[in-house]
This record gives sequence, structure tokens and C-alpha cells, in this order.
Amino acid sequence: MAIKPESLIRPEILDLKAYHVPPARGMVKLDAMENPYGLPEDLQREVGAIAGEAALNRYPDPGAGALKARLREVLALPRGMEVLLGNGSDEVIQIIALACAKPGAVILSVEPTFVMFRMIATFAGTGYVGVPLREDFSLDAEATVAALEAHRPAVVFLAYPNNPTGNLFDEQAMERIIESAPGLVVVDEAYHAFAGASFLDRLARFPNLLVMRTLSKLGLAGLRLGLLAGRGEWIEQFEKLRLPYNVSTLTQAVAERVLGRGDVLADQAAAIRREREALFSTLQGIAGVTTYPSRANFILFRVNRADDVFRGLKSHGVLIKNLHGSHPMLAGCLRVTVGTPEENGLFVAALGKCLAETRAA
Ligand SMILES: *Cc1c(COP(=O)(O)O)cnc(C)c1O
Repeated sequence: MAIKPESLIRPEILDLKAYHVPPARGMVKLDAMENPYGLPEDLQREVGAIAGEAALNRYPDPGAGALKARLREVLALPRGMEVLLGNGSDEVIQIIALACAKPGAVILSVEPTFVMFRMIATFAGTGYVGVPLREDFSLDAEATVAALEAHRPAVVFLAYPNNPTGNLFDEQAMERIIESAPGLVVVDEAYHAFAGASFLDRLARFPNLLVMRTLSKLGLAGLRLGLLAGRGEWIEQFEKLRLPYNVSTLTQAVAERVLGRGDVLADQAAAIRREREALFSTLQGIAGVTTYPSRANFILFRVNRADDVFRGLKSHGVLIKNLHGSHPMLAGCLRVTVGTPEENGLFVAALGKCLAETRAA
């Protein structure tokens, strides 16, 4: 008799829906917070040469020495702090969750937030608590501190700025949570390049604080490199769970080179921030659209009949993210990534048409 998955796989895994990535071929792709600008041609050629010369017959440098040295310099990592590298920051979240998954352990975050916090808690077999944000998506420090006392989470994840809402939480509220937490607090700074704020320089002050970053939203989503910065005593433990060659030779060499040309990605991030402000004002001027302030490279907005607007945009060749139905607080919400001026223009034009169509229907 054949064994069925139901008899072998954990029930909470059977219940999960796989992370869905919609097809985007030929679309104006504004759904995944990617940087719309490629690398300049001279850097593309250098990357090609690096890939050609790389010793792909050998395993990668397990300690990623050259890349780490570059990262220390580019991040201005505070003295005495260590770095853990992951195959994207998703892997870093998973390493932290696995390391802390004692029987009965709980991971806590807010909601709505980055869905991988909850998903990875499930993978690791921990409990998960999501404390609702206030209606304006600000951090509810009172409710969060009460939840810390009630659930004693091993780890708290806070995305700063938050995804999918785009806002930066209040610093004092964050610090209060870090001080009240009985375990670790991981500040996920995936959108740091667009935020102009960070907790990195507070690592020395809070012994339970860790800061996570990624190159994905900065312009290297295809490379898959995330990192965790913090005290050696924590990083040393997480290193034990990191699979030995999780960061490939190509990722190490290319990231090291591109970060060595820090101006390129920084200039692109500055252009994206300017475009975000322009797109925000445009959206604010459209009747029937409620826009939420963003310190990231995307904008959350609310419309009537979001499903229809989302489908309409898709039929006009523009792919964004539909959040309607994903959480009660996100009813009517759509999220658009800031693209090039041309892409944003196509999005705005298509949105105008879709809003007119849904009003007429
Ligand atoms: C996109 C995103 C990540 C994941 O980034 P990768 O490094 O590509 O795995 C992590 N946290 C937040 C809040 C994100 O939005």
C-alpha cells in the first residue's frame, strides 16, 4: 500500500498554502519590491568576468571572509558586532526560529506584517502570536507589552519599515518593546535603503537586539543575500544551524564587487525615494484612493472593490499585489512597488482607467 502524505507530513504543514508567486512575463512588474534598475553596463561586464573566473568546481568559502569584510565596511557595523549570512534574509529568519524552537516556544510579531514570520514559525514548529497594529498601522506599544508578558516569546520580529504597510514604527515604542521583551528582538530592516532610520547603532545598548538586512530590495534580489548583525554570543549559536555552503561562490563574489561600488545602489535607492514621493502625491490626488505614508520602496493604498481594480490593472498589463482578503485590517488594500518613472506612469494611467471602469460597472 502506498504511503499518503497525510500519514507522514505534520498537520500544520498540510494546512499551509505554498507561497504563491504569480507569473509576470510581459507585465509591468510592480508586485515584489524589486529595484527596477539593472546594473550599469561596466559593472555588468565586471560581474560577467567574475562569474567566468570563479572556481565553480570548488565549494564556496564557508566563512565568506571577503564578502563579510566588505559588508562590515559598507554597513558601518558597530565595533565588536558579528554578522551571520543567509541565502536571503528569509533563511536568516528560519535559522533564528529553528535555534529557538524549544517545546512550547513562541514567536511574536505584529499584524499585518511580513507573512514569512508566521510561515517560518510554523515550519519550525513554534507557536505564533500576532499583536494587531492600531488602525493607522502604528505600533500599539501597550498591547504589545501586554502580549510579551502573557506569551513570553523567545523571539519578537519587527519589520522597520513594516511590510505591507510601509510605515516606520515609532522609535520610543520600539525601544519600549525591546526593553520589555523576555527574549530576542529582531529588527528586520529589509527596506533600510529607503527609510533613513536604523537600529544598527543601538546594538551595543540592547543585549537582546539583533538587526537583519537584505540586498534584495536594494537591487540584488536575484543574488539571495541576507544578513543578521548582533553580538557574537548570539551569532555564534546561529552559525551552528547555518548550512555550511548556504551562500554560493557567485553570490559572495558578485555581492562583494557590487557593494564595492556603493554609489551605484545608493544612487538607485535615492532615485526610488524621489519617485516614491512623486507617486505618493499623484495617488493622493486621485479621488477614491486612500494612500498610506511609506518609508519603503512601495506604497499601500485602499480603494473600493480592490479585487476588481487589481484584476483590471492586470488586464492592462500592470502587476501589483492584492492584499484584500489577506487580513481584515487590509480590506480594500493594494500595494504597488515604486518602479521607474515610466512604469509608475503606466501604473497611474491604468489605475485611472480601472477606477473609472469599476465606478461605471
Ligand atoms: C522582502 C522582505 C524580506 C525577505 O528578503 P529576502 O532577503 O529576499 O529573503 C524580509 N523581510 C521583509 C520585511 C521583507 O519585506
